[in-house]
Amino acid sequence: MNLVLFGPPAAGKGTQAKRLTAERGYIQLSTGDMLRAARASGSELGQRVAAIMDAGSLVSDAIVIELIEDALAGNKNAPGFIFDGFPRTIAQAEALDALLARHGQAIDVVVRLQVDPEKLIARIAKRFAEEGRADDNPESFRVRLNAYLTQTAPLVAYYEAQGKSRGVDGMSDIESVAAAIAGVLGA
Ligand code: AMP
Repeated sequence: MNLVLFGPPAAGKGTQAKRLTAERGYIQLSTGDMLRAARASGSELGQRVAAIMDAGSLVSDAIVIELIEDALAGNKNAPGFIFDGFPRTIAQAEALDALLARHGQAIDVVVRLQVDPEKLIARIAKRFAEEGRADDNPESFRVRLNAYLTQTAPLVAYYEAQGKSRGVDGMSDIESVAAAIAGVLGA
């Protein structure tokens, strides 16, 4: 089972991906987490993306596609993958389809967390207080939301054309969202 958890920043993708990992053994592939790890390690890649991430803009397609390519190659026997925060552009979605095809696989379903973007500002203020992520400040968050609306939202039509998109109410509590996702995925 390969699934994309789709939605704007702070929609709850990471929280739900971690639950699915714990419950079903799928591997969470979060390009945001990978990039933050690269930064924490002080690698050349980490240094290259730091300012872009802090501003709230997207890093280049080539960088994140390579991260995903390496992760897929390094987890050949995984029971499934949860793509969290990837793909974020049409080019990334096309690259993902091609990469999975090379492994004899495909995206099975895209779970779209439907949220009210204006309410996300309150969520992000809470996460900023708890985790202190530099890009959770209101100014960067506006840029991230805008990047989502202009560059990522077109993926909804991309996956709808493939018949893979399933909407879930992302504004309810964590348990209810998890139950709705389970309903989409089945047993
Ligand atoms: P996230 O944790 O998914 O919100 O990602 C944090 C930041 O990492 C984003 O604001 C981007 O700067 C960068 N990033 C993560 N995933 C991607 C992606 N798929 N494409 C481009 N940039 C990304």
